Amino acid sequence: RSTQLSSAQTTRSTCPYCGVGCGVLIEHDGKHITGVRGDPEHPANFGKLCIKGTTLHHTADPALLSARAQYPALRPTRDAAPQRVSWDVALDTAAARFADIISRHGPDAVAFYFAGQLLTEDYYVFNKLAKGLIGTNNFDTNSRLCMSSAVVGYKLSFGMDSVPCNYEDIDHADCLFITGANPAFAHPILFRRVEAARERRPGQKIIVVDPRRTDTSELADLHLAILPGTDVALYNGMLHLALKKGWVREDYIAAHTEGFDAMREIVRDYPPAHVAERCGIREQDLEQAAEWFATSPATLSMYCQGLNQSTQGAHKNAALINLHLATAQLGRPGAGPLSLTGQPNAMGGREVGGLSNLLPGHREVANPEHRAEVARLWGVPSLPATPGKSAVELFQALADGSVKAVWIGCTNPAQSMPDLGLIDAALKRAEFVVLQDAYRHTETAAYADLILPATTWGEKDGTVTNSERRISRVRTAVPPPGEARHDWAIGVAFAHRLGHRLGREDVDALFAYDRPETIWNEHRETTRGRDLDITGLSYPLLEAAPRQWPCPEGYSEGLPRLYSDGRFPTPSGRARFVATTWQNTAEQTNARYPLQLNTGRLRDQWHGMSRTGTVARLYSHESEPLLHIHPQDLASRQLHDGDWLQVHNPRGKVVVRARASTTVPPGQVFLPMHWGANAMAGLGINALTTAAFDPLSKQPELKHAAVQVEALAGS
Ligand code: SF4
Repeated sequence: RSTQLSSAQTTRSTCPYCGVGCGVLIEHDGKHITGVRGDPEHPANFGKLCIKGTTLHHTADPALLSARAQYPALRPTRDAAPQRVSWDVALDTAAARFADIISRHGPDAVAFYFAGQLLTEDYYVFNKLAKGLIGTNNFDTNSRLCMSSAVVGYKLSFGMDSVPCNYEDIDHADCLFITGANPAFAHPILFRRVEAARERRPGQKIIVVDPRRTDTSELADLHLAILPGTDVALYNGMLHLALKKGWVREDYIAAHTEGFDAMREIVRDYPPAHVAERCGIREQDLEQAAEWFATSPATLSMYCQGLNQSTQGAHKNAALINLHLATAQLGRPGAGPLSLTGQPNAMGGREVGGLSNLLPGHREVANPEHRAEVARLWGVPSLPATPGKSAVELFQALADGSVKAVWIGCTNPAQSMPDLGLIDAALKRAEFVVLQDAYRHTETAAYADLILPATTWGEKDGTVTNSERRISRVRTAVPPPGEARHDWAIGVAFAHRLGHRLGREDVDALFAYDRPETIWNEHRETTRGRDLDITGLSYPLLEAAPRQWPCPEGYSEGLPRLYSDGRFPTPSGRARFVATTWQNTAEQTNARYPLQLNTGRLRDQWHGMSRTGTVARLYSHESEPLLHIHPQDLASRQLHDGDWLQVHNPRGKVVVRARASTTVPPGQVFLPMHWGANAMAGLGINALTTAAFDPLSKQPELKHAAVQVEALAGS
């Protein structure tokens, strides 16, 4: 099978939106993309696409070229409009500014903030540039906002960041426990698989845990509408019941785990009546959920931001995995904890060490042996030991002046980060802001001193890894517009210029990449002998079909399920029960701010809408950001459905219209996360969210803030 199908007009690639990672067939005439279809041979979607996928070609319409960044542009002063410059001028300017700041303030005065949208090869180059060439661990990504709690949860429990399950497990599960996730909107093709499994297996039980009523919960046999942030109390309560009723698997616990006695002590304090009250659910529903979870022949959990975007995100993940371990619900078809990644390549970013605390091959910055291994692999004397700044910390450091320059790639922090007032102050204070993006009108572009045009879906070439550890090729169908360049190539060109200014004679050898495959080959070598070993996965093998990791040298297929033998990559070989106790959210409601704000995705939009916002059809579902609020909360404020409102708290204010809805209970409100300053008054939805973050995963609590809602003055 070649990169081109029999028709020269069709190129096989991967959808650039969510972590399901659907295969797509791009139809084109060699210059323009004319259509897109689902790839019937791709095991993530078997030819199906959701509405975002089926409208992808509209985002590449030539009429939308004006939205693309096509030429490098430099702002002579902060108040001036960006002026077109050559690539040489752009890259020399960037190298001069970075070299100057590094020489005056040290390597930790610069930082990089990228995205789970990048391809693995792009990630690899910029991560090496920051940690290997410059010598700073200040390389973080928007995946910090998405799945860093899941990473820590897996590491705490299993010893490694390895998703043990796969999508096929949905077909085999007797009980699906969907918690803190709304796949009907956020992972639609996986949800169709859930619906199909439901039809084929009438006895299958579906439990959905979500404070809101969603399209996902409509399918559930049991919907546990827990109070926001009470997840750990729920899971500990279910474990309490499993112990009390004799549903735990003592044989599995004894043979394959450690730390259970401490957890047994903790869950004594989670009796059903107490837990039901804490979570705001009925005791009999709690008991039913515990019974189905523990006693079904195979139980699969699917979870996402409801667990991750929390100041207790890592322990929410670990508490859920505790349940799987205690009831031996993992390591066989249909059973296990399947965390869903939000972005198309958040998983690939984890593999190359694309976070400020990670190094390639699932290694840790904090581990001296890991630093030495990577330094040897890269051929540099050493790697920096100073911890890098995570997403929120990085912007806090820009705001306080300790970081002077930031290079932002393929993401829009001025729309997507929490506490946008902080981000506004940070980007205004920064001495030098580079934005490398395919789009030129994002909220972040307004702050950029230098804009570098990057290629995007349909133009790029490389690999991505989806939520089930499956690596797929992303392939070029058409040339990029104007002078846009591939992200990895921008990184290589900048590295050479910066390296020479820093007097690094080794820079040419360090960045001797001429195409994505050479980067891939170096990347896979960093995984040799690690849990994610992909030394067997060459580009030619990936041309034939997407494959899962691990896939060591000598193998041609990956492993569909991990830990089937009951052995785990911890020092003892046993999985660990993590002592998890419930903690409340960082921000509590009070008399002034009595409503709990939850934010999340709409079905038809993606992130800050740079791409989906260009497609008229994708506004037919919801065309504006509406505040979903219970009719009682409207009535008590003499407000009505459709009224203009202001939603505010001490961090900021947004003006939106009301949607009276019983999908949220009284006391809670919901706003879609997609709208920023370009599409509404003020800084955007995230002006309201809090930058408080989990101390273990550093993931901010985007899903919990306290707000007040009032009539808009004069309306
Ligand atoms: Fe793309 Fe996700 Fe939709 Fe698949 S489910 S078509 S990957 S947005």
